[in-house]
Amino acid sequence: MTEKSMRSYPMHVDGVPHEPLDGDWFETEDPFLGETWARVARGSAKDVDVAVSAAHAAFTSGPWPRMTRTERGALLHRLGDAIAAHATELAETEVRDNGKLWAEMSGQLSYVPQWFHYFGGLADKVEGAVLPLDKKGFFAYTRKEPVGVTAIITPWNSPVLLLAWKLAPALAAGCTVVIKPSEFTSASTLELVAVLEEAGLPAGVVNVVTGYGAEVGGPLVEHPLVRKISFTGSDATGRHINELAARHLKHVSLELGGKSPNIVFEDADLDSAVNGVVSGIFAATGQTCIAGSRLLVHESVHDEVVRRVVELAGTARMGNPRDERTQVGPITTRPQLAKVLDYIDVARREGAHAALGGHRASRPECGSGWFVEPTIFTGVHNSMRIAQEEVFGPVLAVIPFADEEEAVAIANDSRFGLGAGVWTTDIGRAFRMSERVQSGTVWVNTYRAVSFMAPFGGVKDSGLGRENGAAAIEEYFETKTVWLNTGAPSSNPFVMR
Ligand code: NAD
Repeated sequence: MTEKSMRSYPMHVDGVPHEPLDGDWFETEDPFLGETWARVARGSAKDVDVAVSAAHAAFTSGPWPRMTRTERGALLHRLGDAIAAHATELAETEVRDNGKLWAEMSGQLSYVPQWFHYFGGLADKVEGAVLPLDKKGFFAYTRKEPVGVTAIITPWNSPVLLLAWKLAPALAAGCTVVIKPSEFTSASTLELVAVLEEAGLPAGVVNVVTGYGAEVGGPLVEHPLVRKISFTGSDATGRHINELAARHLKHVSLELGGKSPNIVFEDADLDSAVNGVVSGIFAATGQTCIAGSRLLVHESVHDEVVRRVVELAGTARMGNPRDERTQVGPITTRPQLAKVLDYIDVARREGAHAALGGHRASRPECGSGWFVEPTIFTGVHNSMRIAQEEVFGPVLAVIPFADEEEAVAIANDSRFGLGAGVWTTDIGRAFRMSERVQSGTVWVNTYRAVSFMAPFGGVKDSGLGRENGAAAIEEYFETKTVWLNTGAPSSNPFVMR
C-alpha cells in the first residue's frame, strides 16, 4: 500500500477531528497481510489536556448536564441503534486492524448495541434513598451523581466490545469521557465515536486521544480533571495505573488478565467438554482475557481428553480472517507474536511436550500473516511458567489431577482469578466447585458466555470492580448525602451528636 492510499486517523476532540499538536503519527498494520494500512495520530500530554478540557466543559455546561436521565437513556438507545446500522463497516475495520475473524465480528457487532440499550434503560432507574434516621428533626436522602470526567483505557484484543462495556454505563450515569484505545487498534474506536456523534451524542461528551501508553495513557490518568479511570489490559499496566491513581485519589476499575482453569471431571459429558476446551483456548486465537489456558483433567480421562482435544484443534482452519470459514486467525500484533513464540520455547525448556503445534504456522493459506499453530502442551506441572503466566495466544497447558480436592488446589494456585470452567454431570460437585474456585466467573458445562446482564470481573490479580449487569453503573456514580433540618433544636455547638 502506498503512502498516498493509506487511511489517516486523527484524534477526536470536542466533536471534531483533532490533529496531533506535536504533528507526530504512527502506522497501524493489518496482521493478516503484515502490512501498514493506516496512520494514526500520535498524541501527547498536550492533546490529552485539550481532550480532558473538552470533556470537562461538556460535563459542566452545554447540553449534557441539562438533559434529564430519561432523555439521556433515550439517546443511549439511539446510539445502540446507530451502532447496529453501522455494524458491517465497524466489523470490517476491526477485522483489518486487529485480524479478528469476520465470523466473530459480524456476530459481536450485532450484540454490542445491547449494552447501549440495557444501560440506556437503566439511566433513569437508579434511585437515591430516603434514610430512616435515628435523629429527630432531620430529614436526609441520598443522590446518585456522575463521578465526572472518566478516562477509558482499552486493550487491542476486542476494542469495540470492551469499550462498549465501559462507555454505555459511563454515559448512562451522566459522565463525560476521554478514551485512549490501544496503539495497535485505534481505528474502530475512532469510527465508533463518529457514529455516536452522527446519531446525536453532543460534542465533547466522548473524546478520543490516540497514541502510546506512556505518552497518552499516563498523562490521562494523572490529569487533575479526570476523576475516574476504567481500564482493561494487562495486570502490569493495571497495577501501574492503580498506583498513579492512588496518588491522586481517583476512582479506578481494572479488568486485567487471567490464567483460567477449564476443569474436566471423569463424569463429564466429554463431547461437550472437548468442544468447550477447544473454544475456550482457540477461539479468538486465544487472545482473550478469559482464555481457558489451563486444562485441568481428571487422570482417568486424561489420555482420552487430550487425544480428542488434539484431534479437534488439529482440524482448525487457519487463514484469511475475512473468509467466513476461517476458524483461527492471526496474532494481532508483532510483539505479541514474539511473546507467544517465546512462551512456546519456555514451555519446551521447562520439559513440557507439544502434543500439537508448537511453532509459527507456515500453511500457504496463512500467507505472510502473524500466525501460530494451535498448540497443546502436556506434561505440564502447575508450577511451570507456562501454567502460571498469561500467554494470551493459542497455547493450552494440560495438567492432570487425582480428585476434587486436588483440582481445587491447582485451580486456585494462581495469582489470577478471572474465569473458570467446570465440566461435570454431578450437580453437587458443580455447586461445590463453583463455591470453591476463586474467580470472578465460573461456567458450568459451558465456557466464555458473557452478557450485558451478567457481572464480569476478576479477583486477585485479575482486577478490581465489575462490568456488566445493573450494578456496573454504580462504578460511575458518587453517592451524595443531603441533610435537612426540619426543626431539630440547636444543641451544644462543641459536641457532635
Ligand atoms: P496493555 O496493558 O499493554 O495495554 C492496555 C492499554 O493500556 C493500552 O491502551 C495501552 O496503550 C495502555 N497503557 C500502556 N501503558 C500505560 C501507562 N503507563 N499508562 C496508561 N496507559 C497505558 O494490554 P494489552 O496488551 O493491550 O491487552 C492485553 C491484556 O489485556 C491481557 O493481559 C488481557 O488479559 C487483558 N484483557 C483483560 C480483559 C478483562 O476484561 N479482564 C479483557 C481483555 C483483555
